[in-house]
Amino acid sequence: MGKEYKKIMLGMKLPGGARVQSVTVEVPEPGPGQVLLKMKAASLCGSDLKYIYYEHTDKTGGARYDNVIAGHEPSGQVVDVGEGVLDFKEGDRVLVYHIQGCGYCDECRKGFFINCQNPERRAYGWQRDGALAEYMVADVSTCIHLPDFLTYEDGAMVSCGFGTAYQGLLRADVSGDDRVLVMGLGPVGQAAVMLAKGLGAEVIGVDISEERMAMAEKIGCDAVYQGDESVIEKIMAYTGGKGVEVAVDCSGSSVGRHRCLEAAAMWGRVVFLGEQGTVTFEPSPLLLHKNLTLHGSWVTSMANMEKLVHFLARKKIHPNEIITHRFALKDTEEAYRVFATGKTGKVCVNMEME
Ligand SMILES: [Zn+2]
Ligand SMILES: [Zn+2]
Repeated sequence: MGKEYKKIMLGMKLPGGARVQSVTVEVPEPGPGQVLLKMKAASLCGSDLKYIYYEHTDKTGGARYDNVIAGHEPSGQVVDVGEGVLDFKEGDRVLVYHIQGCGYCDECRKGFFINCQNPERRAYGWQRDGALAEYMVADVSTCIHLPDFLTYEDGAMVSCGFGTAYQGLLRADVSGDDRVLVMGLGPVGQAAVMLAKGLGAEVIGVDISEERMAMAEKIGCDAVYQGDESVIEKIMAYTGGKGVEVAVDCSGSSVGRHRCLEAAAMWGRVVFLGEQGTVTFEPSPLLLHKNLTLHGSWVTSMANMEKLVHFLARKKIHPNEIITHRFALKDTEEAYRVFATGKTGKVCVNMEME
């Protein structure tokens, strides 16, 4: 302990009302089973906008996020370790799974900290200090080593969005046998495109935004269609009238979800990843008679996130390709303002920028 690093640091809070509050606080000390990270990258997430940036809502289960440093997509370098930490040491490059669970419930034992229902569950940037600061204390149970190939920005992308997209593809058992429809090409949709390509699938992307469609082409989508009335016809034509083996909804819209069911082939697999909204559909023609499997999927597990970083390194995939805007930590307010326009890809605060 007592390592050489600053004792006072800059951090960013989200007090609500679309404001970012810059604070100067003491650098925290790592306790037993924890490490202190010098933050290198922290990306912004749609969930921050929905639940914290504009107003603090309790839609995620009575959560409290008052007075903590924001940011739940952390990546950084270990500069100090607490007692009893054997698997991480100073200088290690890590990304952080964005939630620490109780550690003893069924879901935590599986590594699905996201599903933990116990009051000890804490998400970085929501119920405990997060990534938008110069330093952050992380529990080693939530840390994953970054392979050399991956950058800190890549790590931040994995800690939430790419992990979520990967899990959805794992649920549907995506392989090179499949044509995968990705409905909605926001950051999670773009992650799904890159990962499905990496798994060897042929990928069709659909969105209503020209910018996002152009982005999807750039990151390797085999076909990109405008999400208009004719999109199902186009998907059917592309697949020889059969439909896609896998459809992943990342739009969260009722139309998008319905179209996933419509576009799925006989015996197809459909995954709902996009949050919120509703959907109404006729089960007989769309689900039963097509023998579809419909999966809901939420975030991922520690083990699958670990598997994902090695997959990315082996396949030479850099998730930071989907970043369209980068800001220095001191410019976090501007980062949120730009992100809130809804016209960006992923927005990342890069602590190595001045
Ligand atoms: Zn996130
Ligand atoms: Zn738990």
